[in-house]
Amino acid sequence: MGIRTPFIRLTDICQLSCEHCYASSGVKNPNELNTQQWAQALQKIAQHAPRVTLLGGEPTLLPNFRELLTYACKLYDDVTIQTNGINIPHKTLQHLEHEFGGPPSNLTIAISIEGNEELHESIRGKNTFEETIDSLKQYGIEYKGIKYEEDDDPAMRGYQTGIRITITKKLNPHQLPDLVKYFNEKLHSPVTLVRFLEKGRGTKKWTPSKKQLANLYQITQKLQNEGYTIDMFDSPYYAWDKDKREKYKEHFKNRGVCEVMRGERMNIEPDGTITPCFMLTDDEHEIGHILETPWNEIENKLTEFAEKQREKKLIEEPCQECEYSELCQGGCVYLNSDKRLDNRCPIEHLEVN
Ligand code: SF4
Ligand code: SF4
Repeated sequence: MGIRTPFIRLTDICQLSCEHCYASSGVKNPNELNTQQWAQALQKIAQHAPRVTLLGGEPTLLPNFRELLTYACKLYDDVTIQTNGINIPHKTLQHLEHEFGGPPSNLTIAISIEGNEELHESIRGKNTFEETIDSLKQYGIEYKGIKYEEDDDPAMRGYQTGIRITITKKLNPHQLPDLVKYFNEKLHSPVTLVRFLEKGRGTKKWTPSKKQLANLYQITQKLQNEGYTIDMFDSPYYAWDKDKREKYKEHFKNRGVCEVMRGERMNIEPDGTITPCFMLTDDEHEIGHILETPWNEIENKLTEFAEKQREKKLIEEPCQECEYSELCQGGCVYLNSDKRLDNRCPIEHLEVN
């Protein structure tokens, strides 16, 4: 099948210092690739993969980010940037609109939100919620058919945006309906929930409980049934959710829901090191360098790593007896490594459809 989902962590620089940051972002890694090297990397990957996700750190703080983003939008069918949303300068937007005759239709700006204003600012700092929401309003949104025209209010420029909420211990499930309604209806942005995983500055104290996760899954499904645009990027969820299960059955069968277990995910660190996922970055997971390692070697190593993961028997409860294990294969490879098994799957608290 080959690599379908490359993630590029362009930089470790960030203007915030969130306490739970998986990348421990803040200060520049002295070995970060320069603009020309990132351009080479983008070109190399584009010969084999149709989409790319650019993240950090805060990718928009990279020198020459606007040139790199423009280049990526020319090379790929789909480009996503993951940002804290408080620093996409007008000049970047103007440059993109000049190059593409308007907001590039293949670009999605994914913005991280922690929850309501109080929770968001307790983690990200004072005024960050307002700054991020202002950015969202300024980018404007094509989602739900709102188009940008030359003489429109520049506040509605027509970029596709999405909200990404991390499920941490502090996220109260009962906040979710109001947040989703607000982001969907007022800012025309779909919402995606992503489970917090312990890494970097993100320690166990942020890990959500199984009951909390189960509660959020149920609220997500209810909101979906009511017509709201909300999704959950959590691996077991794809095996439990009836629609997703049907849709991806053949693709997941005996290969798992985690892209790492299928050899379809690739992560590039700021210094160009390749690993299977931005969560799996220890020395033992290094498989090469994006500018030095030939593409077939990268693919072979990711495939070998995936095969090794699939060979591991699902000996732990509750996976061993689970009726969804053929598709799920225990979910996230990162969560299944080491001793992180204690808070994995909330299935015992769910009625699965
Ligand atoms: S019990 Fe294991 S195999 Fe079953 S859905 Fe949960 S993580 Fe997946
Ligand atoms: S290892 Fe975990 S975080 Fe990485 S792709 Fe798989 S499910 Fe996602």
